[in-house]
Formats: sequence, structure tokens, C-alpha cells
Amino acid sequence: MRRVTILGSTGSIGRSTLEALDWLGGREAFAVEALTGASNVALLAEQARRCGARLAVTADPARLPELRAALSGSGVETAAGPQAVIEAAARPAEWVMAAIVGAAGLAPTLEAARRGAVVALANKECLVCAGPLFLAAVAEGAATLIPVDSEHSAIFQVLDARAAPERIILTASGGPFRDWTLERMAAVTPARAVQHPNWSMGAKISIDSATMFNKALEMIEARWLFRAEPDQIEVIVHPQSIIHSMVGYADGAVLAQLGPPDMRGAIAYALSWPGRAPTPMERLDFAALSRLDFHAPDPERFPALRLARAALERGGGAGCVLNAAKETALEAFMADRIGFLDMARVVEAALERLDGAPAPAALDDVFALDAETRAMAAELCAERAPVAARA
Ligand code: NAD
Ligand code: MG
Repeated sequence: MRRVTILGSTGSIGRSTLEALDWLGGREAFAVEALTGASNVALLAEQARRCGARLAVTADPARLPELRAALSGSGVETAAGPQAVIEAAARPAEWVMAAIVGAAGLAPTLEAARRGAVVALANKECLVCAGPLFLAAVAEGAATLIPVDSEHSAIFQVLDARAAPERIILTASGGPFRDWTLERMAAVTPARAVQHPNWSMGAKISIDSATMFNKALEMIEARWLFRAEPDQIEVIVHPQSIIHSMVGYADGAVLAQLGPPDMRGAIAYALSWPGRAPTPMERLDFAALSRLDFHAPDPERFPALRLARAALERGGGAGCVLNAAKETALEAFMADRIGFLDMARVVEAALERLDGAPAPAALDDVFALDAETRAMAAELCAERAPVAARA
């Protein structure tokens, strides 16, 4: 029996992780130590009952009575609050899925790394906000880090231990506005931005895909995961999302990993690593696919990629600033307080104002820089003209 914990079980990756557990043997192969969620306690309670979890935690203390009521008589322990989420990560599960969205996932994921778990990392923000700090915790705890982001899982799968990569080529779908003009993009609503053409994901990452901030975060994620220099990291738009990413070597050869756009593939890989367990994933039919397309991303319409490159070159605390400003701008956009194109403008201004912020040396430094950036980004959002009536 392998003991597992899912941080963020009620989200898109969390739900797919429970499905992947079923694929690979369900309750006969896995014992669920803890599940954590936030506002959707009805789903959290249902999941905990179904998989026989020992502990269910909601990050929101106000929802504890509701969680307790939903789990009464089940024997599942309950707890609430951010500290309880960290404690859930500290419990002795060998394998931990880190699938909380945003910088909120950092402290619990660090906890799992410090005690030496196998950490399946979907929460890319851990590496974006605190790459060196997070990797030091992994090394200190002798933890095993397995990327779950499809691009990074692909790279991890085709890395050749005998040769250093020359280039890391991240593929990007280009999101729903890949071919839109700037004028049309300016009027995009949150409801439209959330609809991704290829992948089914949480609302925030879907909007990040539409701005390509998701790829920006993934560039920084790749920098730390694979210890790549900024100029080794490339992004290519590949609308079909079949090639999940590629690695180029010094002899000119490029290795790619392909599959249908379904996160359960990368999750099942993280569960079976270092082996490959059979799964019912859809098989690629190349004759039906017939073609794969590629084109360079447009820097005018997708400034996020340029901002990620600037953050990589600046180093220090720039990744933390980029992420916190992006999360603040994203929330303002989702609440209809700023426009779609304003998000990158806010991030760019925050990066300029906080240029030279040092790399956070401890978790408290991350929180301090994150809070300082959010306060500044909130002001920058307020300064932007109110969103005009949209088509
Ligand atoms: P989601 O919004 O669907 O789910 C997020 C989960 O985090 C939920 O369980 C929610 O309850 C929990 N959560 C939210 N705020 C929290 C807080 N403050 N404290 C504790 N828990 C909180 O997100 P998702 O799409 O599943 O993405 C999760 C992570 O995985 C993100 O970092 C995302 O970038 C990454 N990721 C997602 C996908 C995908 O296909 N969805 C692909 C690659 C990477
Ligand atoms: Mg990805």
C-alpha cells in the first residue's frame, strides 16, 4: 500500500489525481492520508468518503462546521485553516500531489519536501516564487521532485542522464486568442478568457494560458527544475498540444514527448515513476492527426513571455514579484476591475518598481516580498482606467 496525500484535491488537477489513483489500483494500491481543499467542502467531503481518507482539511476556517457536518459518522478527521493545510502535508504520506493554485501552495509543498516525500509538483508557483529555496528544501529533505506540469513532465521524460541539454523547448497551445488582434483582445471578458481550446483546467490557469502568463511561469519553472540558463529556454506555439515539450542536445538531436492533451497522463507518470504503469489514456492516432503545426509566439500580443525573460535575466526576487503581481492582476481582471491587456501592464510596472529585490532567503522573505508586490500591484490596478463597456 502506498500512502498518498493530495493538496488541492477539489481542483482540476486534484480531481484528475483521484481518477489516476483509480486507474492504477484504487483503494487496493493506495491509502489516502489527507485531502485538502478550500471553498468546495461538499466535494472535499464526498472525495474523502469515497477514497477513505484519514484527514480532510479546508483552507477556510469558516467552512469547518460545514465540513464536519458533511463528514459526521465517516471516521474522517477534519481540520481547517492554512496551518492545518501545512500540517496535512507534514503527515506521513510517501507521495504528495502539490495541486494548490498560486503562491498559497508554497508553504505546504515545502513542508512535504522537507520531510522527504515524493513530491508530484503541479503547483509551478513554488519554483517561480522561490526556486532556489524550494530546491534547497528538496535537497535537505532528500525528497524526490517529479514535475506534473505537462511540459515539464515531457522534458523530465526525455532528459538523457548522459548528456546535458542544449535547449529546452516549451510548447504552448497559444490559448484561445492565439490568432486574435490586439483590438479584439482588449475587449475580452473573464468568461471568454476561461475557455481553453485544448485543455480542461482551473479558471486561473486557463486565463493565464490566454495571456500566455502560464508559459511565462513555465519558463521560470524550467529554469529551476532543469537548472537551465535563460537563453537555453525557448517557447514555440504548437496549437494541437500533442507535443508536450522537447529537449535539444549538442549533436542537434531533439527528443519530444507526445500524447493527448490530458493531464491524467502526466499524473499517472508521476505515480508510476520510475516505471510506466498501463493506463486507459487515449492512444494517439497519427493518421487522424495528419499534421502538427508550429509558429513563433507574437511578442506584441503576448508580452508575458518578454516579461518572463526579463525576470529570468534580473534574477533575485523577480520571479516572486512577477507571480504576485500577476495573481493580483488576474484577480482584478476576474472581478472586472481591469481589462485583459492591463494584466501584463500591471506586471511590467511592478517588475520595474521592484527591480533589484533580492532573492528570498527564507519563507518569511517570500511572504514579505509577495505581500509588498500585491499591495503595489493593487494600486497599479486601481490606477488603470475603469473597464469600458465590452462587446
Ligand atoms: P484549481 O483552481 O482547479 O484548483 C486549485 C485547488 O487549490 C483547489 O483544490 C482549491 O480548493 C485549492 N486552493 C485554492 N486556494 C487555496 C488556498 N488559498 N489555500 C489552500 N488551497 C487552496 O487549479 P488547477 O487547475 O487544478 O491548478 C492547480 C495547480 O496546478 C496550479 O498551480 C496550476 O498552475 C497547476 N497546473 C494545472 C494544470 C491543469 O491542467 N489544471 C496543468 C498544469 C499545471
Ligand atoms: Mg503546462
